[in-house]
Amino acid sequence: MQNIEQILHLQKEYFFTGETKSETFRLNQLEKLKAAIQRYEREIIEALKTDLNKSEFESYSTEIGMLYKEIGFTMKKLKNWMKPEKVKTPLTHFGTKSYIHPEPYGVALIIAPWNYPFSLQISPLIGAIAAGNCAVIKPSELTPTVSNIISKVITDIYDEKYVAVVEGGVEVSQTLLDQDFDKIFFTGSVNVGKIVMEAASKRLIPVTLELGGKSPAIVDETADLKLAAKRIVWGKFTNSGQTCIAPDYLYVQRSVKSELIKYMLEYIRELYGDNPLENEEMTHIVNTNHFQRLNRYLEKGKIITGGKVDAETLAIEPTLIEEITWDDPVMQDEIFGPILPVLEFDQIKEVVENVRIHPKPLALYLFTEKDENQRYIVDSLSFGGGCINDTLIHVASPYLPFGGVGQSGTGSYHGKASFDAFSHEKSIIKQTNRFDIVFRYPSYKHGLKIMKKLLK
Ligand code: NAD
Repeated sequence: MQNIEQILHLQKEYFFTGETKSETFRLNQLEKLKAAIQRYEREIIEALKTDLNKSEFESYSTEIGMLYKEIGFTMKKLKNWMKPEKVKTPLTHFGTKSYIHPEPYGVALIIAPWNYPFSLQISPLIGAIAAGNCAVIKPSELTPTVSNIISKVITDIYDEKYVAVVEGGVEVSQTLLDQDFDKIFFTGSVNVGKIVMEAASKRLIPVTLELGGKSPAIVDETADLKLAAKRIVWGKFTNSGQTCIAPDYLYVQRSVKSELIKYMLEYIRELYGDNPLENEEMTHIVNTNHFQRLNRYLEKGKIITGGKVDAETLAIEPTLIEEITWDDPVMQDEIFGPILPVLEFDQIKEVVENVRIHPKPLALYLFTEKDENQRYIVDSLSFGGGCINDTLIHVASPYLPFGGVGQSGTGSYHGKASFDAFSHEKSIIKQTNRFDIVFRYPSYKHGLKIMKKLLK
């Protein structure tokens, strides 16, 4: 194990030199990061193929390209984000000026999962750098080739005193969580999220938790069924369902179920071929444990399509299952694989009643042409974020903060929200010395009378 305490000590010292705080420094580091990803692009794509059998198309569109966009956006906006924000001053503070100064927390710890192992490690790092922090990053041990390439990219451009990569599994992660970081940014499962929050609470370290959960795709009878089918199939089976915001289950109005399923079968064939297990472009399941966990979900309910698996390559066909109830194992935990249970409803209010009694989802997708249903669902259910008439794409807008609520997470990032996630908002009042308002002092005769007038 690398000497974690020593790295942290070095980074704290370096942070206190103030070097990481200037705009020029931050821009240079972001520029370097982009150039390094470009330089290592081929190796990153190969690593993603080795660890997850990700296709070049998926690797570029969901891991690498998004980072280029994000770095470009951040660099363009940084000057503006860094500026102290002048705000109003209340009458009680007459004569003063008020500002909000964003300041970097200091040394941040960023822990990443394995499903988008490159982008989910680097994307928060962009925010940390933009906000002027030092950072220790820990990639997932379940995608070791990607973890290795992350280490290579980062050590090529940054000194350990600024950004360090610490590779390893649970034990390393726990050692990191025992240290005195100034901020912890964690992406991963709900259960580990609880461990992270508990560790952070011992030192009262601010946390961002990007977690998971069961995200519904809801389709009512007014929806454009063909488009809904295509967009749900794409959202669910991208990365073989190993996406935190993938539709976890389909919740469809009974009257349109069979038509929707008919279109979904067509699109599964069109997007993944007649024999998806032979499709070179299908992402595989990350390891045997997850493969076996997913196989157990196939034991209950009636398979509409798919269900075949390849234990050697850890591939599972895009699978739809019906005759599922809320009590079945597949509805107990986040599925995180290419299996989509189908549940039916008759009235839209059943959707609200049933989703509401479960933990708040990370994402929710509603397919409808009815404005009233859009308003009803968005107003009645709490969830991290989502789309009306699409899946996944809200994650890729730099203008939308991305994060969960309740069990699906705490805090958010992307675009300005990433900068904010790694900044403390320091409030400052600058007082005038030209005069001094006397009535706040206890010795002033009419103080109470004036206070009562001002503070009512
Ligand atoms: P995970 O929680 O098992 O692991 C995430 C990280 O935590 C890894 O780096 C791992 O080494 C570390 N870790 C694991 N056990 C630990 C422990 N006991 N103590 C300390 N650290 C520990 O998650 P995963 O399996 O890598 O990823 C899948 C999960 O992540 C899913 O639940 C998914 O929904 C969620 N996720 C969320 C987002 C999001 O943006 N909200 C994105 C991707 C994945």
